[in-house]
Amino acid sequence: MGIIVQKFGGTSVGSIERIRSAAQRVIKETEQGNQVVVVVSAMGKTTDALVSLAAQLSDNPSKREMDMLLSTGEQVTIALLSMALQAEGKQAVSLTGWQAGIETEEFPSNARIVNIKTERIIGLLDKGNIVIVAGFQGMVKESGEITTLGRGGSDTTAVALAAALGAARCDIYTDVTGVFTTDPRVVSSARKIPSISYDEMLEMANLGAGVLHPRAVEFAKNYQVKLEVRSSQEEERGTLVEEEATMEQNLMVRGLAFEGNITKITVSNLPNGIETLSSLFSTLADNGINVDIIIQNVVNESTTNISFSIDSSVLAETQEVLAACQEELGFESIITEGGLAKVSIVGSGMISNPGVAAKMFKGLSQKGIMIKMVSTSEIKVSTVVSQADMVNAVETLHDVFELDVRQPAHQL
Ligand code: ASP
Ligand code: MG
Repeated sequence: MGIIVQKFGGTSVGSIERIRSAAQRVIKETEQGNQVVVVVSAMGKTTDALVSLAAQLSDNPSKREMDMLLSTGEQVTIALLSMALQAEGKQAVSLTGWQAGIETEEFPSNARIVNIKTERIIGLLDKGNIVIVAGFQGMVKESGEITTLGRGGSDTTAVALAAALGAARCDIYTDVTGVFTTDPRVVSSARKIPSISYDEMLEMANLGAGVLHPRAVEFAKNYQVKLEVRSSQEEERGTLVEEEATMEQNLMVRGLAFEGNITKITVSNLPNGIETLSSLFSTLADNGINVDIIIQNVVNESTTNISFSIDSSVLAETQEVLAACQEELGFESIITEGGLAKVSIVGSGMISNPGVAAKMFKGLSQKGIMIKMVSTSEIKVSTVVSQADMVNAVETLHDVFELDVRQPAHQL
């Protein structure tokens, strides 16, 4: 017997019917003799609907009031799920984030959890209750302000509670059956991954695989919380996210991530000095511009070209910032190339297998796909290609690395 944390995402509690079926999942877990803490998201698209209500009143609503507003979504779900369990004759209690002891820093709309006081939850569990906690929210201890953890933050609530309670497992119930090699809506041969390491999952989540909140994965890694991402509708087992050592095989490439809407900017003929890079990128950072891949090309002893990629949505702003500092930085011109996409391969087996990047580049070149930028980490290679080539690139790499071949099943 142990504590299990179950988390249900928006779709999985999107109607009264779904809430009833989530309640059945919870009951099943208690029947295994486990104590269960449930974390829920707001029902369906409630959070989006609340955001658009606010947008009708203001272009820039106060972050404090946004937290006040958005935190109501999860509060509806906890009460309803608790009622559904009580209707089945179970003892259940719902708690808001602050009632559950979740303390955050004072950073409205994107607060981090700093501490969880678990006494109340443990007391309730020990009296035989199922405890249902509102995801995505907490409170600042000093000021008593309600905060939210950033969009998608209920995953983080669940993992943080699992860590604080020393839970045996944290199950993330969602509307897909697990983490896939790539988006199955784009590549029909995409497969469910039986198990994936924290580091691989973190790369995938940061590269935009939306199934888990990146901060939740980071938390899980730091506290060694075993996660399983699985369907709330189907019985089949999902994807285990766990430490490398327990995994059966380090695949060179475990998954592919991709995103469009990228622009490459080249700043040409910058004077080549010790502070060149630092002044250029500090200026961008000071203006809140997020830069992804960076490439430096030394032209000659005295000048250099620097290219970097940004999300196309911040192009106008980036051009303004650069224009304003052209004289000070002393570069000649700015060249922009839009309509680009990033396609990345992720796999921890890359560390010990040379030639993975070469295989990727060869596969793309054989299809006539031009690579415009590259960046790597120990377990990831990202390429920037034309957006028109994106789907072809993803399909090609899915084949090249044989991701459609069934991976060995894990022991559960
Ligand atoms: N309800 C919040 C959102 O939609 C938090 C979550 O679902 O994880 O972002
Ligand atoms: Mg989510």
